[in-house]
Amino acid sequence: MSQARLMDGTALARRIVEETAKKAAEITDRTGTAPCLATVLVGEDPASVTYVRMKQNRCRKAGIDSRRVALPAETSTGELVATLRSLSRDPAVHGILLQHPVGEHIDERAAFEAIAPEKDVDGVTFASFATMSFGLPGFVSCTPGGILRLLDAYDVDLAGKRAVVVGRSAILGKPVGMLLLARDATVTYCHSRTRELSSVVREADVVVAAVGRPRLVRGQDIKPGAVVIDAGYNEGNVGDVDFDSAVERASLITPVPGGVGPMTIATLLEQTVDAAARQLGV
Ligand code: NAP
Repeated sequence: MSQARLMDGTALARRIVEETAKKAAEITDRTGTAPCLATVLVGEDPASVTYVRMKQNRCRKAGIDSRRVALPAETSTGELVATLRSLSRDPAVHGILLQHPVGEHIDERAAFEAIAPEKDVDGVTFASFATMSFGLPGFVSCTPGGILRLLDAYDVDLAGKRAVVVGRSAILGKPVGMLLLARDATVTYCHSRTRELSSVVREADVVVAAVGRPRLVRGQDIKPGAVVIDAGYNEGNVGDVDFDSAVERASLITPVPGGVGPMTIATLLEQTVDAAARQLGV
């Protein structure tokens, strides 16, 4: 079999960000107010600091203002909740991103729920999960939303297909499965307690790997012609799929980096501008 076609997340994300920048400029022209994303960072974990900086840079390039809120590592759940509630009430802020994971002493769920649903551009609240699952207007979790955009861009017909999602986290595995279900795929979730993972993955027409274990999904587990989405991002730019062997069996595959990653940020920017448009009545 010939090698899989690569799903170019970098190129698609660039197009989405260009469109988003045009919309941001239009909002700024019409209202005199630029869309604004507040980023909230607790502590100084180097990876989180880098992610926040990257998101702010991308915002700036797209004509979106960003407000950086940096809190000390010892911030309590109550203090974080108060900060997020205050940003939720602030009319100058249109979207809120709480960089996670937050410290273990913080109740992350309580913090997420302090974000007003209309500003939840990272799609982390119960309200966003519910609207997404019911197919109602609202914000999706950014990585799952980006994955669906990528599948659409490559004309992957999901109806009736067997989709296997490896991973069930609240921000990635679970929501991506709900989005695939909404497109009439037959969805199976796998997780750390799944027995015979390989044999489940082998039945998939579409595989989404969202685990955080380098090269867990191997080429020999991929059904010939399957579509393989690798959301994993591990040290050394390695995904959760063994790319070299999977590319020999899949029909379409996302590279790491350059596949799912850029789509996550593009979705965040797009949802921030949509949030601003709604709040400013444009
Ligand atoms: P997470 O919260 O740690 O969840 C990992 C999931 O994988 C859990 O559901 C866990 O099962 C499951 N799992 C762990 N070991 C397994 C195994 N051996 N077999 C089957 N399932 C197993 O991770 P996450 O936040 O969802 O992130 C997953 C990956 O995506 C990471 O590499 C992360 O860096 C990447 N990521 C990328 C982006 C992006 O923008 N590209 C965004 C977010 C995350 P249990 O539920 O049973 O524990």
